[in-house]
Amino acid sequence: MLNGLNAIVTGSTSGIGLGIAKMLAAKGANLVLNGFGDAEAIEQERAGLEADYGIKAVYSSADMTKPDEIAAMVDLCVSSFGTVDILVNNAGIQHTAPVEDFPAEKWHAILAINLSSAFFSIQAALPHMRQKGFGRIINIGSAHGLVASAHKVAYVAAKHGVVGISKVVALETAGTGITCNTICPGWVHTPLVQKQIEAMASEQGISIEEASDKLLCAKQPSGQFVTPEQIGELAAFLCSPAAAQITGIALPIDGGWTAQ
Ligand code: NAD
Repeated sequence: MLNGLNAIVTGSTSGIGLGIAKMLAAKGANLVLNGFGDAEAIEQERAGLEADYGIKAVYSSADMTKPDEIAAMVDLCVSSFGTVDILVNNAGIQHTAPVEDFPAEKWHAILAINLSSAFFSIQAALPHMRQKGFGRIINIGSAHGLVASAHKVAYVAAKHGVVGISKVVALETAGTGITCNTICPGWVHTPLVQKQIEAMASEQGISIEEASDKLLCAKQPSGQFVTPEQIGELAAFLCSPAAAQITGIALPIDGGWTAQ
């Protein structure tokens, strides 16, 4: 279904990004992988995707806090595959603290990785998409792009910002064959969330299982985690011809979180 298309997925060495990368590869897209982690494990993942799905995959170590490295990641996609058709801005981090105690360096890091990196990668990728008259930009927002939670000031600000970026890019590209949307997941059981579960368990003196249930049920009426595979399928749908007129939206996949 995505045969011959070339995709960049930022933060694809773990969690949701890896789930999206696998799904796009399974549907035939070539990939630029990106994110931090053990070099050997990343190489295994890259080679595994090529072997399992018969696609080409390359790895960019670009740090999403650095606009020049982001531009180099887009250049790598173009030099490896000829163009960039799909851009998934997924890399993200979290830090929780009340507003008064929120460390300035965490504020800057979250805004840079979760928000500004999407702007810089879109800026670098758009000329290639315009030239081809085709593009699919998918920003991974969050339920926190639509509603707030206490102690997540930088994350909520960044994710609301991502929803805004998508709307502006959708307007500027309308009718060109390019779409830009935000996927807004609820809780997904990834390393990013595992850290929050562990913090809750130690703060409240409860087990990891109890903390996991408590965290999930406080926000997500389904009481079930969203999976990276489900988000991958949604991303693949947004890349399909059926989604050509879907642009500028913020699409929740959140077990009912934002219906409340
Ligand atoms: P994760 O920690 O499993 O993965 C994060 C990825 O981002 C990793 O590959 C990591 O190496 C990469 N990354 C971090 N800093 C980077 C940097 N400076 N440069 C390049 N790569 C960097 O987290 P996840 O839960 O899979 O989160 C992925 C995205 O989904 C994030 O944007 C997050 O905000 C969003 N999200 C997650 C959830 C959830 O419940 N897990 C819910 C909604 C939205």
